Amino acid sequence: MQSSQTQSYFLPGTEIEIINPALPRGQFRSVLFDFDGTLSLIREGWPDVMIPMMVEILAAQPTHEPEDQLYRLVEGFVMRLNGRQTIYQMIQLCEEIRQRGGTPEDPLVYKRMYYERLNRRIAGRIEGLRSGRIAREDMLLPGAIELLEALRRRGLTLYLASGTDEPFMKEEARLLGLTEYFNGGIFGALDDYRRFSKQMLIADMFRRHGLRGPQLLAFGDGFVEIENTKEFGGVAIGVASDEVRRCGINQWKRDRLVRAGADIIIPEYRQHAVLLEYLFPPDCGGAATG
Ligand SMILES: [Mg+2]
Repeated sequence: MQSSQTQSYFLPGTEIEIINPALPRGQFRSVLFDFDGTLSLIREGWPDVMIPMMVEILAAQPTHEPEDQLYRLVEGFVMRLNGRQTIYQMIQLCEEIRQRGGTPEDPLVYKRMYYERLNRRIAGRIEGLRSGRIAREDMLLPGAIELLEALRRRGLTLYLASGTDEPFMKEEARLLGLTEYFNGGIFGALDDYRRFSKQMLIADMFRRHGLRGPQLLAFGDGFVEIENTKEFGGVAIGVASDEVRRCGINQWKRDRLVRAGADIIIPEYRQHAVLLEYLFPPDCGGAATG
């Protein structure tokens, strides 16, 4: 709806929405995946931990708005920064504390508090994956493994990048059986947060492998990875999954990802075969196929 001149449309018989019909196809060499909400459901529900925690902290400051207003404010910046390392959300929290007359702790203190609360929520999932009580398919977006396999069969180099701390996300990727697919590497947030970002990783991919914009394909459910991909001229696929039902589109996510610049919106990877056929048309440069 919001895409400027061109009309968005759905690939026939699918929930795959082409937002930018002019996107360059068939040249992809590298694929960048976000982790949480894009492949993994282990941290599903994280905003319900982060947002109330921040509202609680801001409501305890010398001057503050009513809680419902605080909630909207926090939700706004938390989701705007989703995709960057967690510390950036905490840095913004510190700024908001200052604006309300408070004296914030170090952002790391809030990050630790958040991880502690989130870990309580997800501990059962991780333990379940470890013990085999939970099947890994139950903690993955549907069709994820099949998509990764298909991309590797096409000879693409796959990268996994997350704003979650690297030791956690590497272990979670391992538990989900994803590690082997990422021949380009697996990257997460570092303690020294200035040393890693998705933007830095993309810049490094371009430099090292002489990539050009249309050779980069990215999958993500956060604002940041979509924006970063578009900055480099790549093709961005917004994954607007309903993480609770594990099926169909979350409209709120979809609208945000379109605003961030996503070229295509998908719910999950059930229809990956149709998606890949579209992304790699048999006759490149020819007429668009359906
Ligand atoms: Mg994500």
